[in-house]
Amino acid sequence: MSTQYWCESAWVDGAVASGVLLTCDETGTLTSVETGIASAPTGAEVVPGFTLPGGVNAHSHAFHRILRGRTHGDGGTFWTWREVMYSVAAKLSPANYETVARAVFAEMLAGGYTSVGEFHYVHHTADGTPYGADADSRAHAMERALARAAASAGLRIRLLDTCYLTGGIDTELSAEQARFGDGTIDGYMDRHASLADDFATEFPVGAPGESYVHVGAAIHSIRAVPAANLPRFTELSGPVHVHLSEQPAENEACQSAYGTTPTQVLDRAGVVTTDLSAVHATHLSDEDIASLGQARASIVMCPCTEADLADGIGPARELADAGATIAIGSDQHVVLDALRETQGMEAGERLRTGQRGRFSPAELIASLTEGGAKSLELPVGSLEAGKACDFIALSTDSMRTFGSVGEQIILTATAADVHTTVSGGQVRVRAGVHTELGEISELYAQAFAALGMENAGHA
Ligand SMILES: [Zn+2]
Repeated sequence: MSTQYWCESAWVDGAVASGVLLTCDETGTLTSVETGIASAPTGAEVVPGFTLPGGVNAHSHAFHRILRGRTHGDGGTFWTWREVMYSVAAKLSPANYETVARAVFAEMLAGGYTSVGEFHYVHHTADGTPYGADADSRAHAMERALARAAASAGLRIRLLDTCYLTGGIDTELSAEQARFGDGTIDGYMDRHASLADDFATEFPVGAPGESYVHVGAAIHSIRAVPAANLPRFTELSGPVHVHLSEQPAENEACQSAYGTTPTQVLDRAGVVTTDLSAVHATHLSDEDIASLGQARASIVMCPCTEADLADGIGPARELADAGATIAIGSDQHVVLDALRETQGMEAGERLRTGQRGRFSPAELIASLTEGGAKSLELPVGSLEAGKACDFIALSTDSMRTFGSVGEQIILTATAADVHTTVSGGQVRVRAGVHTELGEISELYAQAFAALGMENAGHA
């Protein structure tokens, strides 16, 4: 049994094509992509506007969404923002995190993303005791909650199981960080292997269009994993993500401890490869840019978060020119809007350099789609046979997009223009409402209630 979508226009082979017929099989995998089909065949769903491969959100911390609109009151810094974030992390349990993540993942689908790299480090109970240590809970309960939330929303997830051993270089974890830690690198490696085994049974990997849950690894940062432990990550296959040089303070601490930059510490450990994704990559040296480029590493730019936290923005164009692949992430979800996030990268480049067109519209689309697919090593990112049938469709006649020419719509549309989101060949969101889960604002009402928090300040 196959499903067909006839798209008025779509992004195929790096160009705008009209009359595009997408056919997928019962596993939700594309079996053919035909262009120049004048009208919809009988039984095909008509998709008006402009269809793009589903956006890939290559960097997410789902629970950070809860902070949105609650951290602007008295200015502050990245570090004071982090204190508020820790207060939310302390509230999380497997049950309430599944409720929170379901809402966030539904919003992601509405915002133009069909895949996520969830950089997950809240592994254990509040005092650091692993779930499953007693009869009341199952092992990997937090990871299972995220995977279930993603699968129920229809969002493809690469769960980036994060290693977080120290509170800073040569600094023990603080009390609020206890639930992130695994004690030692062996503790992390053992838990990670056990997680991968469990998930292989519970969420088996099948056809491209039907496998929603995948496991990967992450090094939280050079602050959180000692340099001596980093070579162990070369033992793992698949993607490895790392927060890299997000803050000048991180670079300074690294220089004084190791006498070089975070990128060079990773490079000496052998983990700067094409499987590595460096998130942020804001404060880099020329040598760092060359190392990441030569290795064909991925760079996950999170422009809306960089702007929100006043972090500055990394040299994305220079990294791309050096050979790195650029991907897009929403990180702390100050917005969940694949279009605005992508536009933010080009806006940051223009503000940083005083030049327009640092990334062409086609390159921006590639960053949101193929770049993220490479970073997360998922069979998505383009409309072609063999890939998952994941796409978003934009209105081309809204007040925002009316008059936009071809692919330049990537610079004018917002999440409000995403009228349909499809993953695994099934419509997940239509006109802002999740087809299975309903109104997404209602999911947030459930999420805030589960955390014992209110939608404060608007009474
Ligand atoms: Zn992050």
